[in-house]
Amino acid sequence: MTARPPVPYVTAWTGEDRRTAPVVVCRANDRGIGYPHENPQERDTMGVLWARRPLRQGHGRPRYGHVHPQRQRRAMHRLLCQVCAAPAYEDEHGTLFLLEDHRDVPGWPEEEVTAHPPLCLQCAAMSPEWCPHLRRTGAVAVQVQHPDIDGVHGLMYRREGRLAVPDKAVTVPYDDPAVRWVLAAHLTRVLRGCTIVQPEEIAERLST
Ligand SMILES: [Zn+2]
Repeated sequence: MTARPPVPYVTAWTGEDRRTAPVVVCRANDRGIGYPHENPQERDTMGVLWARRPLRQGHGRPRYGHVHPQRQRRAMHRLLCQVCAAPAYEDEHGTLFLLEDHRDVPGWPEEEVTAHPPLCLQCAAMSPEWCPHLRRTGAVAVQVQHPDIDGVHGLMYRREGRLAVPDKAVTVPYDDPAVRWVLAAHLTRVLRGCTIVQPEEIAERLST
């Protein structure tokens, strides 16, 4: 019998379900979206608005496949393991990420934009066993020399008169002015300087 898989650090719990906060158009023209009563933590350092969720990790049931915006942002920003929140694995080849396998695309994964935070060695070795989605789609471990913060993934709003109306899910870089209209749920990084790592190499490094 194998040990029960851990609930990943970035996974949302039912006790953390959405707080109903209306999103409004900022008063000055083309300033994008905001909350009527905002506090400074609700925007990141680039001024982008983030989805409001309570921080109650472990309350209720895990909502697998749903990511808690603030924990994802913390893990991605600080390069923490998305499963156990320890520092992600890093050596001279870069930081370790696990990506859905797109090796059939020429040049992949160079310049890939990802919303998945990195992993430590132990969790990277175990993840395909723990996660049915990864088993189905196939996962590739990649070490990245320059995983640069790029932008956000979230819900794009559009203006309808004085109202802000949700439109579609988007991934937008910080240097695109449209980012002011996105309610962010994930921080993204663009991956440059990538080396694909074979599963045997992970196992070997774990044993040393
Ligand atoms: Zn870990």
